[in-house]
Amino acid sequence: MTPADTNTSPTFASLGLAPELLHALRDAGYERPTPIQQDAIPLALSGRDLIGLAQTGTGKTASFTLPILHRLMHGPRRTRALVLTPTRELCLQVEESVRKYSLHAPLDVIPVFGGVSYEPQEKALRAGVDIVVATPGRLLDQIERRNVDFSYLEVLVLDEADRMLDMGFAPQIQKVIEQIPRYRQTMLFSATMPPEVEALGRKYLRRPLVVQVGRRSQAAATVTHAVYPVRKERKTDLLVNLLTASHHDSVLVFTRTKHGADKVERDLTKAGIATAAMHADKSQPQRMRALEDFRSGAIRVLVATDIAQRGLDINGISHVINFDVPQAPEDYVHRIGRTGRAASTGDAYTFMSPDEIGMVRTIERVIGQEIPRISVPGFDFGTVASASVPSDAPVASA
Ligand code: AMP
Repeated sequence: MTPADTNTSPTFASLGLAPELLHALRDAGYERPTPIQQDAIPLALSGRDLIGLAQTGTGKTASFTLPILHRLMHGPRRTRALVLTPTRELCLQVEESVRKYSLHAPLDVIPVFGGVSYEPQEKALRAGVDIVVATPGRLLDQIERRNVDFSYLEVLVLDEADRMLDMGFAPQIQKVIEQIPRYRQTMLFSATMPPEVEALGRKYLRRPLVVQVGRRSQAAATVTHAVYPVRKERKTDLLVNLLTASHHDSVLVFTRTKHGADKVERDLTKAGIATAAMHADKSQPQRMRALEDFRSGAIRVLVATDIAQRGLDINGISHVINFDVPQAPEDYVHRIGRTGRAASTGDAYTFMSPDEIGMVRTIERVIGQEIPRISVPGFDFGTVASASVPSDAPVASA
């Protein structure tokens, strides 16, 4: 987090938030609002529709949950706010934020997502819980079961809208919004603004104001990037080398496919490195377990696919390693958005095999900077023709 560090930068109190919320923010140890919070909170409090262009790690969640809590503190105890999120993980994280900030406010929240039993969600929804945080699919199920009454709904948030559209949730979003009164406040948050997201904004928001953190597609400034040229079949060995050559606190490894994630997990485990994999085929308990173990430090390495990566709220990731070069430049920005958070610096390594050179060039164009190459003798396809590599090959550290 990089709140503006001059003494003249706004405080949470100067943004106009209720004392109960300021109290919770003090409890949470937050000193100053982050840039997106400084811009978005006053606008959200004014009731305007809002588009927030911000990645995870910028403090975007608080920039919509705080105004929601402020607004709901007074008035009827009915379901008055809905946050739609792409994944269960993000759903739980938003719920956690709401709980943290509502510690001294009489408001309740329920997460609604698939893969768990319907009953507790059903009970809370029927009781008119103040705030619902949901993934679109399960929420639609609950709507079809007639467990949801959105007739009092005042605030709708579409969180990580780009990812929701990527995941094909547009029809579900449409159906959910059909249940919501037209006179409401709508806030859309997205890390990127492709035409599809712009169209979504035009469809569901009224004269929105746009709040943006940093330049579009800008990579986090605290991240050190490096590209390791490496032949495809040597990537696992390079990874094991990097992980054992120097100390890494917490490493998030990205692979392109679920199969690839499982294979890297197996190979690292074989090499004696405690690892868990996270992807769409993992059950909810498996995912929660993996996240818990990673958060607690029981495992240092988490292998994930892109689908699992967005919205993972894990502080202090020291390294992100792109085992495969992400296919879309935006994914590169999202992936490395996982490190360099909370004012710590992080490293982002990308393993580039010969067939991935073009994709790296595209990424460099989009982020507007060249990523330094680190050549590791024995691994770099540019420097070795032979497949035989000494097992004690030196490993450069970025
Ligand atoms: P987000 O971008 O919403 O996922 O938030 C990223 C992380 O920053 C979360 O762990 C928040 O608890 C934390 N955070 C959000 N706002 C602040 C703030 N003003 N000061 C310190 N930490 C914050």
